[in-house]
Amino acid sequence: MSRIASVLLPMPLPEAFDYAEPEGMDLVVGDQVAAPLGPRLMRGVVVALREGAGGNRPLKAIDRRLDEPSLPANTLEFVQWAARYAVDAPGQPLAIALRGARAPKAKPVRVTRPTGLQPARPTAARTKVLQAALDQALSPADLARAAGVSSGVVKGLVDEGVLQVFEIVPEASFDEPDLSRPGSALNLSQAAAAGLLKEMVDEGCFNVALLDGVTGSGKTEVYLEAAAHSLAKDPLAQVLVLLPEIALTQAVISRVADRFGAQPGEWHSGVAPPARRRVWEAVAAGRCRIVVGARSALFLPFANLKLIVVDEEHDGSFKQEEGFIYHARDLAVVRGKIEQAAVLLASATPSLETLRNAETGRYRWLRLSSRHGTAQLPEIELVDLRATPPASGAWLSPPLVQAIGETLERGEQTLLFLNRRGYAPLVLCKACGERMTAPDTDSWLVEHRYSGRLVCHLTGFSMPKPARCPHCAALDSLVSIGPGVERVEEEARLLFPQARITVFSSDTVFDAREAKRLVESMAQGEIDILVATQAAAKGHNFPKLTLVGVVDADLGLRGGDLRAAERTFQLLAQATGRAGRKDRPGKALLQTYAPEHAVMQALQAQDRDAFVAAEMEERELAKLPPFGRLAAVIASGPDMTQLEAFMREMAQAAPNAEGVEVYGPADAPLSLVRGRRRKRFLVRADRGVDLSAYMTTWRARVKPPNAIRVAIDIDPYSFL
Ligand code: ADP
Repeated sequence: MSRIASVLLPMPLPEAFDYAEPEGMDLVVGDQVAAPLGPRLMRGVVVALREGAGGNRPLKAIDRRLDEPSLPANTLEFVQWAARYAVDAPGQPLAIALRGARAPKAKPVRVTRPTGLQPARPTAARTKVLQAALDQALSPADLARAAGVSSGVVKGLVDEGVLQVFEIVPEASFDEPDLSRPGSALNLSQAAAAGLLKEMVDEGCFNVALLDGVTGSGKTEVYLEAAAHSLAKDPLAQVLVLLPEIALTQAVISRVADRFGAQPGEWHSGVAPPARRRVWEAVAAGRCRIVVGARSALFLPFANLKLIVVDEEHDGSFKQEEGFIYHARDLAVVRGKIEQAAVLLASATPSLETLRNAETGRYRWLRLSSRHGTAQLPEIELVDLRATPPASGAWLSPPLVQAIGETLERGEQTLLFLNRRGYAPLVLCKACGERMTAPDTDSWLVEHRYSGRLVCHLTGFSMPKPARCPHCAALDSLVSIGPGVERVEEEARLLFPQARITVFSSDTVFDAREAKRLVESMAQGEIDILVATQAAAKGHNFPKLTLVGVVDADLGLRGGDLRAAERTFQLLAQATGRAGRKDRPGKALLQTYAPEHAVMQALQAQDRDAFVAAEMEERELAKLPPFGRLAAVIASGPDMTQLEAFMREMAQAAPNAEGVEVYGPADAPLSLVRGRRRKRFLVRADRGVDLSAYMTTWRARVKPPNAIRVAIDIDPYSFL
């Protein structure tokens, strides 16, 4: 009896395709195969096998099984679950899961080995070479170097048949973590938290805990202890640590390497393809036991995943907003369930979603309420910009300038935090009032002085700053409005010409190596003032950093969506939490026009619980997350009339369901991007509703015209 194989292709197709399994191929689920699609052969993964011949039309046959690791059953299940949840094609998450498998394989290397024959003339040089070749398999050139002889000696031995040169493909592997190394001596509350986490690991089943500890309380130390326990308990166990930023992965990789004397696998978009391939293979084979990575590491083919740590779990960067839309924290919990693994969510400012799960007992709740050792939380001061405004055309108020001066005098460091890249967020013409916007897009162009260009942060469009206003042609009339980090840097340089000042934003630090270099140089005290966006404001440990100045504390509250207050609180608590993490006391100054705002008051009083309680109450009244669920539909197209007609059709097709309300269609706040008009629906549902199923049904009822794209965002974080 022949068999039919369902093969999922890593493409946005609605389902897996059936193929005939050629005689004798003996496929199993998870195998990677080459299957014909139109005129081409495509890499795909076998997701099901059944007996049969394929009905009236003969099925196309699978071309061959690829000589590649199979995808573990749990990884496949996760991929399929994620697609259903996100109301997207299963090929989308599969493409993420195969990212490492599609990277080029490592190239074979040449190694030299003794054959057992003795050299006819055993000179001292030849003996040294033979000894070195016995110690280690090296290339002929490296062997000569190791033995300290000329390459001619090695060649002579090869010609004589005493040595032989082989080509081998190096096995993807990582050093085993050294579990005999002691961790830090934990303080009492750290030890208590670590003890509970170890118990959770020992239970050996799915469990979620929130490690809720103030900045600098030692959450990292505690979760490394839990990781050590998990790795020691099961010699095949694997641990995944997820971080929201590449810059943060570097810091944690160093700490893991110190703790276990072995480099973990590193996984994020900045990892070069061959290294990516090595991590992917080693993870699949169980030879890489610790992975530190960004959100997509969640899709790696773990052979035996036992612990997932989501560090800075509240961070919005865990939400992938383009292509396959998912939230890595939420999916980490799902992956944990599928793998029967322990999941640990760590943060000083947990999301309301996670706090709610902790409050209701769904997650264990471990709290660390003070900093480790003698370090104290920073004192927080609100600077009322109405009372003490900066000088005209400047952004740093007198109290902040004075505090920076004092910090410099003490030889300590300052972080000036402003979550805005570039020099100025807006350029306008003082003659006619025209605002410079990106072509075909509804967003302002941001002035960047380093590059001398005006840049659209949404689409990447950029142009040199024109000498004349493109609207009224006035000469030299374009003025820069508002500050970005580059402008704050300029001001700091004028005020403190002796200070060593650096900007840390995604424009100045674009890869992991650069991020690592900058973080190290800051940690070693080589920078006096770091002007940074959020790229540097979270997670890091800078022992000599004692002053944090928040240039515009109100920034995140403007034009707010449902999470504006929560996000502002989290970001500022994180940023101010960088101050005074070792023995020197720290201070944070928040420049604000609204010192009476609940967020500012809570930050100053360091009263997170009061803030959370008030915010929870509002959300509960409005039945918004975490007390209800949301989904968004974003449709876009080049033609407004066609888009509007489609949105009307879609509104009519919305299924009636209890506990579900559909709002819209409405213009998206970003109503034009790259020449495409955008419109949105927002769906609110009670907690018990299967929102993915609802959206799937709705989506299936409409067929958008070719020019219209429809994206569904379950549990949206962006409302633009
Ligand atoms: P968090 O992750 O909560 O922000 P970290 O784990 O980064 O905190 O700890 C903050 C600082 O205190 C780090 O420099 C860390 O090495 C140090 N630290 C925390 N706990 C201990 C401990 N038990 N022994 C020694 N140093 C510790």
